[in-house]
Amino acid sequence: MTQTFEIAVFEGDGIGPEITGPTVNILAELARSSNSYGLSFTDAPAGAAHYAKTGESLPEASMAIARRADAILLSAMGLPDVRYDDGTEISPQIDLRKALTLFAGVRPVTVRAGQRTPLNMPDGKEIDFVLIRESTEGLFYTQGRGEVTKDEARETLLITREISEKLFKFAFALAKTRKEAGRGPGKVTCVDKANVFRAFAFFREMFDAEAAKHPDLIADHAYVDATALWMVQKPWDFDVMVTENMFGDILSDLGAGLMGGLGLAPSADIGTDNAVFQPCHGSAPDIAGQGVANPFAMILSGAMMLEWLGIRHDVEAMTSDGAKLRQAVEHVVAQGQILTRDLGGEAGTDAAAKAVIAALDLP
Ligand code: ATP
Ligand code: MG
Repeated sequence: MTQTFEIAVFEGDGIGPEITGPTVNILAELARSSNSYGLSFTDAPAGAAHYAKTGESLPEASMAIARRADAILLSAMGLPDVRYDDGTEISPQIDLRKALTLFAGVRPVTVRAGQRTPLNMPDGKEIDFVLIRESTEGLFYTQGRGEVTKDEARETLLITREISEKLFKFAFALAKTRKEAGRGPGKVTCVDKANVFRAFAFFREMFDAEAAKHPDLIADHAYVDATALWMVQKPWDFDVMVTENMFGDILSDLGAGLMGGLGLAPSADIGTDNAVFQPCHGSAPDIAGQGVANPFAMILSGAMMLEWLGIRHDVEAMTSDGAKLRQAVEHVVAQGQILTRDLGGEAGTDAAAKAVIAALDLP
């Protein structure tokens, strides 16, 4: 009997619906052509436009769909001119992250031969690493609640054993999976500032404890400042990197920069029981409704979702479909014939998505 997995779909704001439709179509096509798994999609209304209409940005009914689902696919939420009464931005994706304790922000950084990048890539080198950003504590712990007096301001850097142990367990498991798939040497680099902060020495201690359980994998340490340098000088040396929330926030933008922009950058926010998959870019209201948005980052997020579900539920066909989908996007980008404007081409959203379907060459 084939298992069917329920996917909660937040199509969101701006270009969200334009890139979600084709992505869901591709995932449904893959599931249809497979005898090994099924996918069912449930729409979950939320976001800034929904707030403007109903006064709710993340309705309880949508939250319930998310909690029940096996995985959550989310495009982008938020619009510049729709805000809460206190002036803060509407970002239900952050509420989801908190409500579901999605502690690991996963940002793959890949630059294949022929892909645009600001670096001068030596012949034969490709970039393929994953940055894991802790997403619930660290320097973001007091976010919006820092203490400010007339003369000073303080924020807290919080590192807990509970979250760190889960984070490092996840990082080493990912390195193992990548090694088995031939994507990396099985190396995890702990990025911190353990030479200056006791909190980071504590962070590193827990990393070392997890590393000791994996003699088959390589454990490495790097200070965050040196990491920024090496991400520019020799990014092909990284495999899995794991770091604190604020450091990860900064380094993941550096990673997106290596990829030549946000158009090809997928991400996942993963917890113990659930995960959200979404492109790194926002809702791009400036180009919404024109049919020109690049769907690749969203499609790559869908590919990550298939791989995560496949590994988690031990459905090999789904894991390999995820890899196939990622390679199909990489193929279209490398060919360079059908690219959206942000990648230097002239194709629209639908043509770009169709090129991926064609590259998949499904039966
Ligand atoms: P957020 O605050 O939600 O992270 P942002 O305001 O920083 O978002 P985006 O919404 O990501 O930024 O848009 C930044 C720029 O990149 C805009 O000019 C937008 O049109 C462009 N952009 C973002 N995503 C895409 C995409 N998928 N295809 C084409 N252009 C995009
Ligand atoms: Mg924005």
